[in-house]
Amino acid sequence: MALQGKVALVTGAASGIGEQTARKLAADGAAVVIADLNLANAQKVADSIVEAGGKAIALSMDVTSEDAVNAGIEEAVAKLGGIDVLVSNAGIQIVAPIEEYAYADWKKMLAIHLDGAFLTTKAAIKHMYASGKGGSIIYMGSVHSHEASKLKSAYVTAKHGLLGLARVVAKEGGSRGVRANVVCPGFVRTPLVEKQIPEQAKALGISQEEVVKNVMLKETVDGEFTTVADVANTVAFLAGFESNALTGQSVVVSHGWFMQ
Ligand code: NAD
Repeated sequence: MALQGKVALVTGAASGIGEQTARKLAADGAAVVIADLNLANAQKVADSIVEAGGKAIALSMDVTSEDAVNAGIEEAVAKLGGIDVLVSNAGIQIVAPIEEYAYADWKKMLAIHLDGAFLTTKAAIKHMYASGKGGSIIYMGSVHSHEASKLKSAYVTAKHGLLGLARVVAKEGGSRGVRANVVCPGFVRTPLVEKQIPEQAKALGISQEEVVKNVMLKETVDGEFTTVADVANTVAFLAGFESNALTGQSVVVSHGWFMQ
């Protein structure tokens, strides 16, 4: 129970990586806040954590809205007494070659991935400072924080940007015990990836099997997908690592797709 007595807020926690991360942090003893655009699914995740004996609440949060983020963080602090761990995870994917990439889609991608990370950090860090206990901020990056792929101009730009944000937060927060790190998964079979397989097949003119084998998993050491549990366990490790020895880093969890 490494996280006993801690409060952890996870954005995008109604599905996929965020959901499993919230479940793992709760299993490790944290009270978790399931923050998501989709309140109905967030509530289901929170209820099932509570049924399993954990502590969880759900709240509606659009990470691109400053008012919604501020209200959500304030509600979490009021109900659970503080915030020790922030996992900025909410994300979507939109793929297209750059000459066809709609400007509105570019702005939407950067808003969810980068504005969301900035707004949640800004709202949470002041509570971490005020408590005198510091905290751990974890950004959900990607192998695409380090590598590029075709069709993903906005995603790769945003995920690279998170490395810069984490490094600044690590420097600003260091003297007050706030650590900031980026977890960088390879492909994980969540709804975000399931949607991409047919889209990429169409855009690249290849079969869905070829997208999986020759695009998504080609550079891994074993042709395997990373799992939600692999990513959740990595987040939990960083959340429970209580010294500034590990800050400003990115941890790649990708079956060797990217080695740093
Ligand atoms: P997912 O689609 O399963 O879950 C994403 C969640 O984010 C959903 O519950 C959705 O409602 C929520 N969300 C979307 N927009 C939001 C907003 N504006 N405000 C609040 N919540 C919002 O996706 P996932 O695969 O679990 O992805 C989670 C994160 O992991 C993303 O940042 C993604 O880029 C990253 N990631 C995923 C993979 C992968 O292969 N699946 C790999 C590397 C990184």
